[in-house]
Amino acid sequence: MVGSSVGKVAAEPTARIAVLGRGPVPPGDPVLRGDDLGVLHGDGLFETMHLRDGEPWLRDEHLARLTTAAAAVELVLPPTAALIDLLDEVRTGWPAPVEGALRLVCTRGPEAGGPPTVYATLAEVPAPARAARRDGITVATLPLGLPAAARNGLSWLPAGIKSTSYAVNSAARRWARRAGVDDVLWISSDGYALEGPTANVVWLTDDTLCTVPAATTGILAGTTAAWLLAHAAELGLSAAERMVTTAELHAADGVWFTSSLRGPAEVHTLDGVRRARCPRTPALQALLGFPV
Ligand code: PLP
Repeated sequence: MVGSSVGKVAAEPTARIAVLGRGPVPPGDPVLRGDDLGVLHGDGLFETMHLRDGEPWLRDEHLARLTTAAAAVELVLPPTAALIDLLDEVRTGWPAPVEGALRLVCTRGPEAGGPPTVYATLAEVPAPARAARRDGITVATLPLGLPAAARNGLSWLPAGIKSTSYAVNSAARRWARRAGVDDVLWISSDGYALEGPTANVVWLTDDTLCTVPAATTGILAGTTAAWLLAHAAELGLSAAERMVTTAELHAADGVWFTSSLRGPAEVHTLDGVRRARCPRTPALQALLGFPV
């Protein structure tokens, strides 16, 4: 009998891909040309969103960041409505209870010229991201080798964009694996904490939730951190953007890494020093709406 689900355990949803202009394609099908500049030079942009109850959380904030970044790197994006249609195409039929990682990728397209390559992928939120949210993470500081204001001071360098050039970020995460920690926190040469390779740092000091200013440091302005700070009052907290040293983070009442898939993951160990768990972590996670 075909199509009966009686007695069957529901299968986990398989990863999906949809390509602008083509629609959904089998995940194993080619999507990029071999001479796509996204592959050759990492010349592209992407956004990763948390799909919850089947809907992309903070979709418009992600699309706004993508639009700003595209202008900064002179990448001509399709109209926003077409990007939204693509996101809708790839998520249609996704089971609402399953948390999804919804990625939108826009590369500069073929080397010889042509339209950007635009596609969306959808897969389950990886287990390590859910574990980080549930159990917290160990983080080690790692020198970035630049003063905090260096990148922002370079008028030619588009800072704070979510580029597909993640070689430095990937190198930092490999270093973390070798060092036996879950993640790293980049420190500027003048001693300030900046961000992680895939997360912002948020900390609590005297009832103020803080994060690092993106505008003056050139870090990525995180959608998760921004939303959390904008809603801090709902937790009885105020919010501020500040520079912070490692010593100040050690002294903070709570430290979290925030990102779209992990949500707020509490940093329970920083540079090998175990921190007291912050009693506010469950409230932060609940406010941001991430299941634990
Ligand atoms: N900083 C970097 C370098 C990132 O790659 C990311 C996300 O991947 C973040 C911060 C967090 O941004 P968001 O909260 O928008 O996911």
